[in-house]
Amino acid sequence: MQRIHTQNWFKTPEGEARGYIDPHELRELWFHTGTACNLQCSFCLEGSGPGDTRLELVKFADVSPIVDEAIGLGVEQFSFTGGEPFLAKQLVQILHYASSFKPCLVLTNGTEALQQRIEEVKTLRKTEYPVSFRISIDKPTASLHDAGRGEGTFARALQGLKSLYDLGFTVSVARHMDKDEDHEVVDKLYRAMFREHGLPEDLNIVAFPDFATPGSLPNVPQVTTACMTTYQTEDSRKSFMCAYSKMVVKQKGKMKVYACTLVDDDEEYDLGESLTASLLSRVSMKHHRCYSCFAYGSSCSEN
Ligand code: SF4
Repeated sequence: MQRIHTQNWFKTPEGEARGYIDPHELRELWFHTGTACNLQCSFCLEGSGPGDTRLELVKFADVSPIVDEAIGLGVEQFSFTGGEPFLAKQLVQILHYASSFKPCLVLTNGTEALQQRIEEVKTLRKTEYPVSFRISIDKPTASLHDAGRGEGTFARALQGLKSLYDLGFTVSVARHMDKDEDHEVVDKLYRAMFREHGLPEDLNIVAFPDFATPGSLPNVPQVTTACMTTYQTEDSRKSFMCAYSKMVVKQKGKMKVYACTLVDDDEEYDLGESLTASLLSRVSMKHHRCYSCFAYGSSCSEN
């Protein structure tokens, strides 16, 4: 059923036409495995934590029909995020299935939930298409990282990263980006830290600005149609995540397609249960995180 959007979907509070994205393909499909997490970080954009059920843990039977539908739509990659994906008991079974069709990427905090299942993870070394991992290491030093995630989490995440690397998996790192940081200086600190821990210094690093917690309403500028045509081009609009990807979440026992990986706390971005139909929906840039995409080119993709 077609969602009826509020006026706010189309117009800013000042009455200007909002920016929007028309999806042109389904290149990447993200699955949200659930908001349960073994850690509880205050900054989490998903508001995840132990036992959290805002988004439910997914099972193989939830995910496999959507993998099949996505393959029919020409998807090139499957990605899995949480919460902590390794809390989904059937994650490895899901990864075996999805990687029999296309490459898979898993975002993990690298700590206990992953490490307790490392024997199972080893079975993913010989799949048809590769399974790779992105580990959250927010800051390049233990004291700064642990201040946000809890005592000892830097060492445990590094241990998870190293185990996956030593097993031969492709690994990358997700870090936080501060507003006024010097990217080169921060990246150098990461490179030195990688070297010190026996990792290649050229590991891919994906930096994210502060996305704020779910349901929050930070005061950011509105993105209008005029912004999107003056400061963006047809090509640059195609690089917004909602132009080429979707995210599937489980809510109230049903799998639902959302417009992108950054927005799952606003029902207007729930595009229904059909991936195929979701590709026809124009996406409004009314969410505060859309400003991060507009201003910083934020993307959850590896490239
Ligand atoms: S947050 Fe970014 S990717 Fe998501 S709907 Fe807004 S502009 Fe699109």
